[in-house]
Amino acid sequence: AHPVRLSVQLFPYDGGRMLLLARDVTALEQADAMRRDFVANVSHEMRTPLTVLSGFIETLQTLPLDAQERSRYLGMMGQQAARMQHIVEDLLTLSRLEGSPLPGLDEWTPVQSLVRRCEQEARALSSLLTQDVQRPHVLQFPAPETLQEAGEIAGAATELQSALSNLITNAVRYTPAGGSITVEWRREADGTAVFSVHDTGVGIAPEHIPRITERFYRVDRSRSRETGGTGLGLAIVKHVLQRHGAALHITSTVGKGSTFSVTFPAIRLRAAAQPALAP
Ligand code: ADP
Repeated sequence: AHPVRLSVQLFPYDGGRMLLLARDVTALEQADAMRRDFVANVSHEMRTPLTVLSGFIETLQTLPLDAQERSRYLGMMGQQAARMQHIVEDLLTLSRLEGSPLPGLDEWTPVQSLVRRCEQEARALSSLLTQDVQRPHVLQFPAPETLQEAGEIAGAATELQSALSNLITNAVRYTPAGGSITVEWRREADGTAVFSVHDTGVGIAPEHIPRITERFYRVDRSRSRETGGTGLGLAIVKHVLQRHGAALHITSTVGKGSTFSVTFPAIRLRAAAQPALAP
């Protein structure tokens, strides 16, 4: 049972009696605490790159640096600015999601284009992260022919793309060079469809799994930062999926890898939507 917080007030009542007013303020206090945590987290996340940036500015102002050193410092400053930009963009995405109406059944997104785009992003990020090593990632995606038959998902293309791309880029970011990332799309007998991303990466300990979709929650802060993470990716994923009635399921073993599967409830087959013309 969860503890309940009550606000209790006593009022004098006629005839010397007292009136006791008890209100359940559990939800109110929880929402308050979450808001406070969130503001503290955002401030902390922004403060780190700002501190580094001010340090670099001071160095540039005070030390006699040659052109090469100057450009190295400017490069590092650019990285910090980009980091803050990512955080702000992800925060804006989250607040936009919170404020916008639920997607209806009037927009359908082809699975084929979603998965193709994921593949492009995975390949680009993988070659960026493994450019200095001999062994690149092994990336496996569904064959183009199978995706032609995959149909369409009910929902907004940009939102769905950002959710699936986040899962893919995480798989690449948390898998050391030489590991593999496998993406599958399959239709279940009950009419739902499952998009799954399997990686042979660092894995996630069971105690962290329930929390990794929280804003700014990370298992390993430095690894997240090194690969350009904001700690908001899975919070965005969770939000988008909830809005589309889709469920996220995570299984993982530390040191072995993780599987993130998304079950979509509403799938429309292209064949059904556009019946072939009789000859
Ligand atoms: P981040 O920007 O830190 O990656 P996310 O919200 O995308 O933020 O993910 C939260 C945390 O979940 C990550 O910091 C990482 O610890 C963990 N995580 C997410 N995806 C994976 C994965 N495929 N393998 C291992 N850990 C992961």
